[in-house]
Amino acid sequence: MSIKRITVAGAGTMGNGIAQVFAQSGFDVTMLDVKEEFLQHGVETIRKNLARMARKDKIKESEIDIISNRIKTTTKASEASDCDFLIEAIFEDFKAKADIFKEFDSLCDSDVIFASNTSSISITSLAAETSRPERFIGMHFMNPVPVMKLVEVIRGLSTADETVKAVTSLSEKLSKIPLEARDYPGFVANRVLMPMINEACFCLMEGVAEKEAIDGVMKLGMAHPMGPLALADLIGLDICLNILRVLQSGFGDPKYRPCPLLVKKVEAGHLGRKTGRGFYTYD
Ligand code: NAD
Repeated sequence: MSIKRITVAGAGTMGNGIAQVFAQSGFDVTMLDVKEEFLQHGVETIRKNLARMARKDKIKESEIDIISNRIKTTTKASEASDCDFLIEAIFEDFKAKADIFKEFDSLCDSDVIFASNTSSISITSLAAETSRPERFIGMHFMNPVPVMKLVEVIRGLSTADETVKAVTSLSEKLSKIPLEARDYPGFVANRVLMPMINEACFCLMEGVAEKEAIDGVMKLGMAHPMGPLALADLIGLDICLNILRVLQSGFGDPKYRPCPLLVKKVEAGHLGRKTGRGFYTYD
């Protein structure tokens, strides 16, 4: 089946970025969220990103409308089910994801491929909630989606080779670089990244250094483009905490226990850039 029509479930940080890159590459996109205001915020973010790209001469001014017009929005799954490919980017919560996949499983044609952008939840167990585990896969974009080249492609236990091929080719059409990983907690990206972010939180909590110094050490000393605390703010502290909990329960290893300071920040609603405050404050 040739893939032309894409449904993106979730219009948040990742969902609107994913919708943007598909639309930029000529796909027709339907973006789904639970509230009209979340969809509007997603569309505004996309338009702002495209305007910034036009100012930097990465796209033509006239393309802003052309690309935006390829994206439709809806709050009803029934209006988003007529697609060739579904990618889910809602909260990092197993039940919420399982529910949305079950709903689309009953609405979509049986040959439609389902993908999850999950950072850490088992692809195999999400696939088992549907009647199409062989056409179920992890397609893990990085944040910010329009900028970052990597797509981590995660093969569940039942994912068919054709599904891996289709998603590899789709990633390349988006000018991304797909790299394959097996379905273990955190895959590769977050299994390596989150313990580093967590350790940076412990350093801050224990007063080993100020936040600017912790980030500065990793930027200047390790050539990281961003420090771990600034990166946690960009990812979302709630997302980081959820991923650490998945690693902790998935491996049963205490080395993944979330830093109490991270837990406290999430409890306070200081989730990073998206709430204007995390380790740093934002306008
Ligand atoms: P977010 O909180 O910014 O956005 C989630 C969106 O999903 C919200 O707009 C919410 O209203 C919507 N939503 C919730 N339930 C829904 C439903 N049933 N139907 C439709 N929409 C629904 O979250 P995010 O940062 O975009 O993360 C989304 C997914 O991407 C998570 O699985 C996360 O682990 C993963 N991810 C995040 C990052 C990152 O840096 N933030 C990077 C890679 C992967």
